[in-house]
Amino acid sequence: MSKKSYDYIIIGGGIMGTSLAFELARRGRTDGLVIERDYLAAGATGRCAAGIRQQWGSLLNAQLAVESTEIFEHLEEYTGYEHSCGLDQ
Ligand SMILES: Cc1cc2nc3c(=O)[nH]c(=O)nc-3n(C[C@H](O)[C@H](O)[C@H](O)COP(=O)(O)OP(=O)(O)OC[C@H]3O[C@@H](n4cnc5c(N)ncnc54)[C@H](O)[C@@H]3O)c2cc1C
Repeated sequence: MSKKSYDYIIIGGGIMGTSLAFELARRGRTDGLVIERDYLAAGATGRCAAGIRQQWGSLLNAQLAVESTEIFEHLEEYTGYEHSCGLDQ
């Protein structure tokens, strides 16, 4: 690490940290650092079943789920990933 300061530092390279870094970068905020103590997706993210559900107990969570699914349906285009992300509905 040669730099001493960043616009932002994110602790943890799970889905929350990496997607936050991705969304900031998409908006031009590229002067950031993700610090992961182990390896990317070393925590719950790498162990989860990757199931996506739409039914939630609060309106906000339900809205997030619906909007997330719309992103998942076009994830390759959204991220520029050249392979299939494997969504199976
Ligand atoms: C068995 C299992 C099944 C699941 N199934 C589903 C599912 O089907 N669908 C679903 O939506 N959700 C599922 N989940 C929940 C989902 O995995 C989590 O909600 C999500 O991955 C949490 O992401 P996160 O980035 O907050 O945490 P994490 O993925 O745990 O990431 C946190 C990261 O921070 C790092 N870290 C911690 N402290 C520090 C530190 N001090 N310095 C540097 N790095 C640090 C850790 O090493 C880790 O990599 C499941 C979870 C589990 C455990």
